[in-house]
Amino acid sequence: MKVNGFLKTETAKPKVNGNHSLQNIDYPAHDMIGDNHVATSLETPMRKDAFLLSDEQKMLIIEDKFRDIMNVLGLDLTDDSLNGTPHRVAKMFVKEIFSGLNPENKPKISVFENKFKYGEMLVEKNINLNSTCEHHFLPIVGKAHVAYVASGQVVGLSKINRVVDYFARRPQVQERLTVQIANELKRILKTEDVAVIIDAKHLCVSSRGIQDEGSSTITAEYGGVFKDQRRKEEFLKYLSLNV
Ligand SMILES: [Zn+2]
Repeated sequence: MKVNGFLKTETAKPKVNGNHSLQNIDYPAHDMIGDNHVATSLETPMRKDAFLLSDEQKMLIIEDKFRDIMNVLGLDLTDDSLNGTPHRVAKMFVKEIFSGLNPENKPKISVFENKFKYGEMLVEKNINLNSTCEHHFLPIVGKAHVAYVASGQVVGLSKINRVVDYFARRPQVQERLTVQIANELKRILKTEDVAVIIDAKHLCVSSRGIQDEGSSTITAEYGGVFKDQRRKEEFLKYLSLNV
């Protein structure tokens, strides 16, 4: 299958001066952005041609490139334990951990009329969250907590988990993930009264760089009535979080 010709972005490559020793590589400024975990936009930065290739074509290219990476690292790909790895990684990227890049995989959520006229806040807490840091491609693992006050529409509880999971299955920064989940729930529920808190560990912080295993990162987005201190405190009390 002829699928080359795409993905020819040269912008992210460091400039190499003279020979290929590390000292001579002039790293660009966005290396610093990455290590400080700064996001540049609320939308996941995507290329216009992101979906011209099929999933199968993407998997073939990624498999090929990942084999190159392993070869460069000096790994022996004829070893039985390693020879299936490029294919496994390619499939995992496209079909699993980054499947949330494709809008076709967005969960279709139906809403119901709030027949019970339940007017208090509904809290869905301890939603499992598995995402990937877009600066280091290492896991972000934690919990999401979501609350909303229904405007007249409600959703099945498991649907909230599916929205969290969809946006988590992308290369992410935690702040953007938090806001993307909140915005999607506001859109589905037709209300601004949505709050999202994420409490997560970043493996790029615990296993490399500063190597702080104890720390976790908490991000929050409060919309509508949750900007009110009393509502905010009520939500936090349900979570028993000291933030
Ligand atoms: Zn990171």
